[in-house]
Amino acid sequence: MEETDNRKSVCIIGAGLSGLTCGMRLARAGFHVTVVEELASPGGLLAYTRIGREYLELTPHHLRKSDKSLLALIKEMGVEDKVAWFDSTWQGRASHRKVGYFDGGFSCLISSLSQEITDHGGRICFSTTVAEISRLSSGSYRTTCVLPNSTRFVIDSTYVVFTGSCRTFINVSHGLPIEMDDRDTMMNVTYSAKISAFMVLKHENSQMFYQQMTKGADVPFDRIINHTSCFGQRGYGGSVVYLVGSCRVTDPIWIESDSDIMLKFFTAYKKLYRSIRKSDVKSWRVTKIRYAQSEQYPGIDLTNPCENLYVCSTGLARFNTADIPENRMELTVSLAGRICQMITAKEELVQNESDTLTEVTSLTRELTDVSRG
Ligand SMILES: Cc1cc2nc3c(=O)[nH]c(=O)nc-3n(C[C@H](O)[C@H](O)[C@H](O)COP(=O)(O)OP(=O)(O)OC[C@H]3O[C@@H](n4cnc5c(N)ncnc54)[C@H](O)[C@@H]3O)c2cc1C
Repeated sequence: MEETDNRKSVCIIGAGLSGLTCGMRLARAGFHVTVVEELASPGGLLAYTRIGREYLELTPHHLRKSDKSLLALIKEMGVEDKVAWFDSTWQGRASHRKVGYFDGGFSCLISSLSQEITDHGGRICFSTTVAEISRLSSGSYRTTCVLPNSTRFVIDSTYVVFTGSCRTFINVSHGLPIEMDDRDTMMNVTYSAKISAFMVLKHENSQMFYQQMTKGADVPFDRIINHTSCFGQRGYGGSVVYLVGSCRVTDPIWIESDSDIMLKFFTAYKKLYRSIRKSDVKSWRVTKIRYAQSEQYPGIDLTNPCENLYVCSTGLARFNTADIPENRMELTVSLAGRICQMITAKEELVQNESDTLTEVTSLTRELTDVSRG
């Protein structure tokens, strides 16, 4: 499959918050948008599943009132009336800052962004992995995609926006004219992996805190998040507890089966809360995230490593980890906004130059006709 009309076209790799935000903005601005996502559904780190009558994120997420760009996006998508603000207790202390959560979960933001892309003629290709980005002699980009049955197809576009990890970007862009130093810098952006497990418990957990850090050699997770103690039981049919641990992909736990991981997590949780029994767990799910959190950021801006190609990756946004560690979606959305502005400004410039060229050509023709008499 090959696209012939590649005017103002953009290929966006990744249907997480960054990719969908870029897709929505550029589709609205008149670009021909194609989003390619290797997973079967949208959301990336905000992916969700159905629990009872509700959608629930596979990893715990909440909003902050300081998330200005994110809240502006939520308003723009018309889902701000679905956000409610809650008091929360962190590490046993009441927080002075409220946390926000959607009625219906973050799925309402993800699906409204996806809908906006398709409503503007864009398309989202799921279960499609980008294997290579190359540049054609015309200056356009060619993105080679692979389907689960190993079939390959290409997408030709004027612009490319890559939203996966910096490492994946380097692996798929080896043929592009990117400075060796920039490649090395991107390759050196390190990520911690995370294992997130949630349990739906039959009874409301007696713990009233929202988040609690759990440090200890024998505890395989470092955070407990009592989702329902803060946001309510909604339609889950039980109370939801997340257990989140950081690890390296070289740690033995990374290759363990989901049920072995869950058993380890549950055993450690039971040591902390002795009254809990296995029969209290209605359902559970383990999610492994390879590139969960970037730990080291380049000191230079590498979001535009070659002409018309942009890397909108969390690994390139510097997070204020000391004060507001949870404001990463905010930085994700503002980076996506900045990249879309760069693309639309570039396109306007190209359009103006082409209009000027057309005017000069017709003026030259008129002058030639006049001089010929
Ligand atoms: C456990 C956890 C809790 C968090 N909680 C919060 C919170 O409470 N508040 C907050 O502000 N932030 C939070 N964050 C951070 C937040 O999730 C991220 O900032 C945001 O979701 C990043 O979105 P993204 O689109 O940039 O990246 P991603 O969501 O990672 O999306 C990238 C997408 O690209 C796809 N992709 C990658 N490579 C390819 C390829 N070769 N071909 C096709 N597709 C590809 C991936 O499948 C993925 O869907 C949390 C993160 C984690 C891990």
